[in-house]
Amino acid sequence: MRRNRSTKIVATLGPASGTPEVIGALFDAGVDVFRLNFSHGTHDEHRVRYDVIRAIEQERKRPIGILVDLQGPKLRVGTFADGKIMLKAGQGFRLDLTDKPGDETRAPLPHPEIFEAISPGTDLLLDDGRIRLRVEKVRGKVAETLVITGGPLSNRKGVNVPNAVLPVSALTDKDRRDLRFGLDIGADWIALSFVQRPEDVAEARKLIEGRAAVMVKLEKPQAIERLQEILDLTDAVMVARGDLGVEMPPEDVPGLQKRIVRACRVAGKPVVVATQMLESMVQSPAPTRAEASDVATAVYDGADAVMLSAETAAGAYPREAVEIMNRIIAKVEQDPLYRPIMDAEHSQPEHTAADAISAAAAQVSQTIGAAAICTFTTSGSTTLRAARERPTSPILGLTAHVGTARRLAVLWGVHWVLTRDIRSFSDMVERARKLAVQEGFARSGDRIVITAGVPFGTPGSTNTLRIAWVE
Ligand code: PGA
Ligand code: MN
Repeated sequence: MRRNRSTKIVATLGPASGTPEVIGALFDAGVDVFRLNFSHGTHDEHRVRYDVIRAIEQERKRPIGILVDLQGPKLRVGTFADGKIMLKAGQGFRLDLTDKPGDETRAPLPHPEIFEAISPGTDLLLDDGRIRLRVEKVRGKVAETLVITGGPLSNRKGVNVPNAVLPVSALTDKDRRDLRFGLDIGADWIALSFVQRPEDVAEARKLIEGRAAVMVKLEKPQAIERLQEILDLTDAVMVARGDLGVEMPPEDVPGLQKRIVRACRVAGKPVVVATQMLESMVQSPAPTRAEASDVATAVYDGADAVMLSAETAAGAYPREAVEIMNRIIAKVEQDPLYRPIMDAEHSQPEHTAADAISAAAAQVSQTIGAAAICTFTTSGSTTLRAARERPTSPILGLTAHVGTARRLAVLWGVHWVLTRDIRSFSDMVERARKLAVQEGFARSGDRIVITAGVPFGTPGSTNTLRIAWVE
């Protein structure tokens, strides 16, 4: 089974996609990586979904990535005596630390650290930015605010503080429990929410100890300011446009998306564009024209993957959302303008043997019209660098390590195949030929390009490029 596209699809599982039938249908429709969202659901629910995915992986004989997404320090207001209040622009509204349920004049805000980080002039955004409060006075753990934009406010709605660095770790106690659980069940990726500083990534890395790869969700302006340092520490990035678009004005998001995708492509780190891509499909069987165009933009930019959230987790048309996303990606990648637009950002190889070989492989495969670039890899680094070149020939990732294949299922342009370690040069050539044919990439008379590191099985030793005929 091979996909007819290079850009990958990440899909979130939830109540609308909990059964083996639906998850299997989503995989068949095109999902490469499943996201388990720990902002919702119990450990038992996530474990069941995890097991279903691994069963599908066995059955379909294709490696599948599993992304455990931690909630992070998401701030929320407390509860109201009547469950819900109405705020009017121009009125005063107090936030405090008491347990007393809120009313039209005040609400509990059970996060002591917010009160230390805010001062007169700070804006607080509530309920995905629908309500805006401006801080006028802070006395200890009480903040007097002015309602700038009013509206209904109900129990436990989210609070964003765009302009302050909050003195909180990127991992709450719940996150630490979820992280332990996610690593125990065997997550390939851990996604970190609301990362503010490089230190947040370093702290998570220490706890993860290499048992999963790390994906930073960029959704805070403070993290964007330190993008390069954060990129150095992470394995991949998610452009988390949901919260990013609350923390920053919506008109800033498209340019930021392009900047982040470009920085990731230069660094050779996978980048996922996420949130509201086909949002109207939560209720409707077809996307809007604007949504189709949004998915297309991420593909033209050369993102590694595009993501579905509520569309597949809670929507009425999960399978249709994946099918349409699959079709949009395939169509864009066949557009004659796709290569010129994507290649406008082609990054130069770094001065390493691996990059020299990867750049040469892309060049050679294009010149001879190779049917595939076959990359033998242990840690995945050879294949990562090959994909960074965005070659015109499809890439085969050949590895003996299922963890590498699962993790890099998110990577642009790579079809993964599990195979035993190669022993010799002739073994390498024979195996590449055989697998390229078996997986439907090459036929007799085609040429393939092969890259590997010799001695075999030594991570990071890419030094060999070979052209071979398929007999
Ligand atoms: P979330 O993250 O869905 O966990 O909030 C993605 C985003 O904010 O875009
Ligand atoms: Mn978010």
